[in-house]
Amino acid sequence: MRLIKPNIFSGIQGLKTGMSTRIGNNGDNEFGIYLGSKENVDSERVKRNRKDFFSEIGIPEHYLAYPVQCHSKNVLKVSAPGEYKSCDGLITNTVHVALAVSAADCVPVLLFDPLNKAIGAVHAGWRGTAGFVVMRAVEMMEAEYGTDPAKILVYIGPSAGACCYEVNEEVAIKFGNKIVPYSPKVFLDLKKENMSQLLKLGAAAGNIEVSSSCTICEKELFHSFRRDGLSAGRMTAIICIK
Ligand SMILES: [Zn+2]
Repeated sequence: MRLIKPNIFSGIQGLKTGMSTRIGNNGDNEFGIYLGSKENVDSERVKRNRKDFFSEIGIPEHYLAYPVQCHSKNVLKVSAPGEYKSCDGLITNTVHVALAVSAADCVPVLLFDPLNKAIGAVHAGWRGTAGFVVMRAVEMMEAEYGTDPAKILVYIGPSAGACCYEVNEEVAIKFGNKIVPYSPKVFLDLKKENMSQLLKLGAAAGNIEVSSSCTICEKELFHSFRRDGLSAGRMTAIICIK
């Protein structure tokens, strides 16, 4: 299995984290992880993939807590595993609660407060990013756990890159772009937008790792909804205090 291990979290005792790709075990290059939001979620193959993924990350599957993602700006504080409806971010300071988000072009963001031992996981597509969902997650960690944004460690995962992610005018204007005649194409850099939101809150640039990968053009490694449409699989990013 090919897992992405964020460098920013490497060597931290008791923190389990990683992100799946489309490379699974036994040469499976259509490896996908679904967290319950896909109708084939209980197929044997999907179950096996989930089992492989959790064993590779090093935590039991029953630790899983995930949002039923809906491109919202809602973030929930949780203290137990389970499925959480109508939100796109979860935060916790409870051990053995593995926060996970799935994505295929949208930005997965993992948060860790090393001082207060609190974590967060956020799914930020263009709607979530326009709604400042990652800022809401950090602000909630601040209010609930006393997190200092200047000390938080962040992983901004692979997503649709500025190289490929062309957006229409409706989306472009939400991020301060204008479609002008003769240069009608606007490409959005969602990872950069999330990065600048974190910097605005006082996060330190050196504490934020931004993946350089684009899910659309790196087709060997990633699923992409923009590229593959409804048949696209999903990657999952997960973080857990063990
Ligand atoms: Zn690209």
